[in-house]
Amino acid sequence: MTEKLLTEDIKERCAIFDENFADVTERIEKAAALSGRKADEIMLLAATKTIPVEVINHAINNGIKLIGENKVQELLSKIDEYDSSADRHFIGHLQTNKVRQVVGKVSMIESVDSFRLASEISRRSEEMGIVTDILVEVNIGGEESKSGINPSDAESFLQEISGLKGIKVQGLMTIPPICEKNEEILRYFEQMNNLFVDISHKNIDNINMKYLSMGMSDDFEQAIICGANIVRVGTRLFGRRNYAV
Ligand SMILES: *Cc1c(COP(=O)(O)O)cnc(C)c1O
Repeated sequence: MTEKLLTEDIKERCAIFDENFADVTERIEKAAALSGRKADEIMLLAATKTIPVEVINHAINNGIKLIGENKVQELLSKIDEYDSSADRHFIGHLQTNKVRQVVGKVSMIESVDSFRLASEISRRSEEMGIVTDILVEVNIGGEESKSGINPSDAESFLQEISGLKGIKVQGLMTIPPICEKNEEILRYFEQMNNLFVDISHKNIDNINMKYLSMGMSDDFEQAIICGANIVRVGTRLFGRRNYAV
């Protein structure tokens, strides 16, 4: 790509963002009201995979307070250039051998789905003298192809990791199955919210149930109506990604 083309693409993407952000914000407000909450109780995470850092920083300068990357390499390649006024979450599958590269670089890791991963994040955090906030990823649809803890194992998993000193569990995250029908997606989101509420009531030591991260471009409003307070939106903010990830 020539310099010129690159600049054009960035300008276009910034314009797409400006148009979309107002719309997404309005939809969040409406969905929050339907669930009896205020819009500022819902965190909008901008999913920034494949999006150039210039566009991300434009978004941050215009109201995005939280971004999320899902690949370690991409996170690291952009890390020195992000506008540091936004918080960063890691939202993708994380291999144990890459934990060292992520700890300290993000304020939360949303995708913790094994004891090995949780204890490695804890160990590396302790080495750095920090505590890393995490969410436990739940495979609400029980899909073979997806990572995440089985819903029926979630409570025992939380008990198991509750003693780890370098992490602090702040809630749950999920990526539900792709659904054709609205009722189907609502059912998964409701199951997830029920699990979230059940676990909150157990008052497990050292486990906070503050955040429920669910809902993406096509279903963030439904997710909010079912109790989500972090929604992760990419395409609906930045337009279609140029290449598959
Ligand atoms: C890319 C991504 C999103 C956002 O996806 P869109 O459909 O583009 O909104 C949300 N969560 C995770 C984990 C992602 O990787």
